[in-house]
Amino acid sequence: MIEYIGVSGPPDALVCTIFVCDTCREQVIERGNNVWGSTAGAPGPRRGTPIHVTHEGHCDAAFDQWFAQAYPDADGWMQLSEELDFFARQLAHNATKPLPADDGIRTHPQQLTLPRLAQETQ
Ligand SMILES: [Zn+2]
Repeated sequence: MIEYIGVSGPPDALVCTIFVCDTCREQVIERGNNVWGSTAGAPGPRRGTPIHVTHEGHCDAAFDQWFAQAYPDADGWMQLSEELDFFARQLAHNATKPLPADDGIRTHPQQLTLPRLAQETQ
């Protein structure tokens, strides 16, 4: 996830935004992926997951197992990912510039869906 982390020390205490691995809870600095799910193409309303972050390698593999249980293929979910540096550049770009509507780009309505495991424990 993208999280605010408190940092203490001179000159002042800060709150910093960082990428936190959803598997090991450590900061992802270089080699990492953002991972999300979508039901695009499946019957019913289009659903999407929160965006998760993982280190490449072991953390990525462990997250895949969790994702398959939280968002089953049988419910129409597909897992998607991209490299974190590309994601960060695209997000920074889109934070300051609107999508070019005159190029035929349109957004699709989507329902944010929390993981099945979290919903069952609430
Ligand atoms: Zn990790």
